[in-house]
Amino acid sequence: MRQKIVAGNWKMHKTLEESQALITEIRGLVRDEYRGQGKVVIAPTFLSLPSAVRLVEGTEISISAQNAHYEDHGAFTGEISVPMLKSIGVQYAIIGHSERRQYFGETNTVLAAKAKSVIRHGLTVMFCVGETLEQRESKQYFRVIEEQVSQGLFGLDRKEFSHVVIAYEPVWAIGTGLTASPEQAQEIHAYIRKLVAAQYTAEIADQTSILYGGSVKPENATSIFMQPDIDGGLIGGAALKARDFIDIVKAMR
Ligand code: PEP
Repeated sequence: MRQKIVAGNWKMHKTLEESQALITEIRGLVRDEYRGQGKVVIAPTFLSLPSAVRLVEGTEISISAQNAHYEDHGAFTGEISVPMLKSIGVQYAIIGHSERRQYFGETNTVLAAKAKSVIRHGLTVMFCVGETLEQRESKQYFRVIEEQVSQGLFGLDRKEFSHVVIAYEPVWAIGTGLTASPEQAQEIHAYIRKLVAAQYTAEIADQTSILYGGSVKPENATSIFMQPDIDGGLIGGAALKARDFIDIVKAMR
């Protein structure tokens, strides 16, 4: 049975104090209201990671970084490496979010190196892929997804790949209020699983968690998560409100 996951990506939101308050609120709601088997992951800013890790100690919640450098150390001003994340107890790293690709010019080659570093140090990578509106409208989205998945991840061997979670996030649905229909999302998730099966094995593909991201809210989470190839979600805006986030977590069955 593959792992179901709901992960909240807080992006560049919340001061240290605000994030401590939000994590404490989410922690209470998860404890009181969530009885499922799925995994809950929270990705605050780098600044809030050490206290976030402490606040979720002994709970079902894991903490993720939103990015990481591919080198372990060196002259890379402003960057944070995977061993540094590991040293404070971070368990996941989001790599390849469309905002990193779009605003920071991160290419599939750089992202492949980042994913490799995350896994080499024993963390799990949440690797994001997704097409722009233009690519969807010009019907190039299968090609784009295939390129992102294969160039970003298929340099990993089978063992390494078992530490990969893929997040399909159509760029046109991120933060826009537009959501892929459950059928549109399912189509891409099934396609990604097929690519993984062809590169590795059907068994590995079957074990790979593939999350959907793009304007997931409490109102649409159930219909999206019900799809056979959708194993949970990567949540942006709605992850910043404890009530909305827990309701999305509860939609994961
Ligand atoms: C995201 O940034 O990963 C995301 C899915 O954002 P939102 O839920 O706000 O669309």
